Amino acid sequence: ERFKQSLSKTRANIGDKIVNLVKTNKKLDDDFYEELEEILIQADVGVETSLELVENIRKSARKNKITDSEKVMDLIKEETARILGVYDTSLRVETDEKPAVILVVGVNGAGKTTSIAKLAYRFKQENKKVLLAAGDTFRAAAIDQLQIWADRVGVELIKHQEGADPGAVVFDAINAAKARKADILIIDTAGRLQNKTNLMKEISKVRNIIEREIPSAPHEVLLVIDATTGQNAVSQAKIFKEATGVTGIILTKLDGTAKGGIVLSIAKELNIPVKLVGIGEGMEDLRTFDPVLFAEALLE
Ligand code: GDP
Repeated sequence: ERFKQSLSKTRANIGDKIVNLVKTNKKLDDDFYEELEEILIQADVGVETSLELVENIRKSARKNKITDSEKVMDLIKEETARILGVYDTSLRVETDEKPAVILVVGVNGAGKTTSIAKLAYRFKQENKKVLLAAGDTFRAAAIDQLQIWADRVGVELIKHQEGADPGAVVFDAINAAKARKADILIIDTAGRLQNKTNLMKEISKVRNIIEREIPSAPHEVLLVIDATTGQNAVSQAKIFKEATGVTGIILTKLDGTAKGGIVLSIAKELNIPVKLVGIGEGMEDLRTFDPVLFAEALLE
């Protein structure tokens, strides 16, 4: 229910408009599909993805001999879920070797710190021992903020001083996690996009250290992106994907944005699964992404 509620603005931007279109266009003709395409593109679904989605709906309608627009709603839901449904949204944290390492990347302000706290909280609820690493040593505020969250959730944070080598923090954190038999280590990274090249170098250095210490790690590289930035989020994700080998997306601030359509855009154009969505500022406000639920919440 919370999830559905959090999508209300996106629903107004997509679902309500489609319902309206169905009301005014009784027949499934070219006009109908053109307008449907327009609605999707306007709602940040992305041009490529919108075209493909509409084409799939058109084909499916033809195959099922549907000519009445009212009956097309179910097809739209089905095809939306199908585009998203090919991905595995589970987190790979059940590893033989401990700890499972989750590297969290993304630009400042996207919701990285909050998402790390939410993840830590979730794992703690599952009775897992979690350790955090303050890998963003560029901003003192980032370290402080993560410490506040670590205390709130009740997990330990491994940190160095501002300006320290992020690689050294990560090295220490891995050893601490091994010594304390932690199940999961979640590593924060810097997110200053003003200097992309250096940032990507820094993250790949951190990645190399992780791999050197635990060959099967990182088990997840989660990119945090802010849903309210719409199509910009997609181009940002491309940069991170190339440089850091992202395995999944945490899409934050889905509550309160009308741009939830980018979920589709990300899945299709980047071929990376949205694994988790942020639907609020509290530590419980992180949900595993469910494509069918998403399609239904969007179009009901
Ligand atoms: P960071 O700079 O990437 O570490 O970003 P923060 O974690 O500090 O988050 C930036 C702001 O976004 C904070 O005010 C958070 O409370 C807020 N925020 C993060 N995730 C969500 C979310 O899913 N929904 C809402 N409404 N706010 C969020």
